Amino acid sequence: MKFSDTFHLIDWETEKQSIYSKSEKEVLSAINAESPTIDDFKALISPAAKPHLEQMAKRSRELTLQRFGNTVRMYIPLYLSNECQNICTYCGFSLDIKIPRKTLSDDEILREAEIIKNLGYDHILIVTGEANKTVGIDYFLNAIRLLKPYFSQISMEVQPLEADEYKLLHEAGVYAILVYQETYKEKDYKIHHPKGKKSNFNFRLDTPDRIGQAGIHKIGLGVLFGLEDWRVDTLMCAHHLKYLEKKYWKSTYAISFPRLRPCAGGIPLKSEMSDSDLLQLICAYRIFNPELELSMSTRESREFRDNVFQLGITSISADSKTDPGGYANPKENLEQFEIDDDRPTDEFVQVIKNAGYEPVFKDWNPFNS
Ligand code: SF4
Repeated sequence: MKFSDTFHLIDWETEKQSIYSKSEKEVLSAINAESPTIDDFKALISPAAKPHLEQMAKRSRELTLQRFGNTVRMYIPLYLSNECQNICTYCGFSLDIKIPRKTLSDDEILREAEIIKNLGYDHILIVTGEANKTVGIDYFLNAIRLLKPYFSQISMEVQPLEADEYKLLHEAGVYAILVYQETYKEKDYKIHHPKGKKSNFNFRLDTPDRIGQAGIHKIGLGVLFGLEDWRVDTLMCAHHLKYLEKKYWKSTYAISFPRLRPCAGGIPLKSEMSDSDLLQLICAYRIFNPELELSMSTRESREFRDNVFQLGITSISADSKTDPGGYANPKENLEQFEIDDDRPTDEFVQVIKNAGYEPVFKDWNPFNS
């Protein structure tokens, strides 16, 4: 049994209608629910919840403080390659975009690691495009071997792999794997992913199953906001989360909130998600599941980021480069997307401290280190 077996029984239009017909009464009941259900989640993300955003933010803040205290976990992405064999209509690494391609050598990986370590980070997120022949499991295992002496927590956001490959990554010490479905609307997924292995909707949809089977500690999910109606897409993601939590109960879970950003050759947005929509969604997830890690990148503006770590976000990056080799040697037009908040780590850390929060660079020590 895989998620795709149950997912195809969920009808997009029926779920959409269910969200958009939620009433104020259902919203108020969801905000204060002891154990919120999927139906409560629908109410929390519905247009009817908009006038109650302040109340949702208050509840979300309380729940976050109860579970996580005044802390924010810090991480930084490390892009190892921008080679990609897929065409994705929204991405600066897409095969059809003429940019210089680069995959880091051992020496270049070590140079990036030194710089990142000196910035104070202990948790890195390895990111690559999808070029299975040159940047496959052997490349990853070698990169992890090089990076492990520097960092106690290594997460990955790379192409979907097979379960036995995830097992190898788990044994090599990988802590978390993130894989975003981009959009759960199958028809539109095919429009945005016309070529390459990523065009296989079900293979991607069942990737978190394979990650769970491999015993990876944390599984990250998300959708790319801007491709489809964010409310329906996010509800599908919540269904996915519920299914996984029940089946792979030993793993923990994280949700990320990527909104489309401009990139070389990027598409216009189909569905705009405002700052207030994004805040509503963050609060909805927190109320729905107080245990979840909610993560935010530097795609968002400094003003937005400075608020949301006090309202529900528990893991945040800073000082990020989205091009391979970008920490040692920043270049133009190698990047996946433009970042918005480009403040240096020290400056952002000070903002966190000024708000009475503690930035946590290390909260994990592998037992064999
Ligand atoms: S989103 Fe991922 S798979 Fe698609 S083009 Fe970008 S790097 Fe490649």
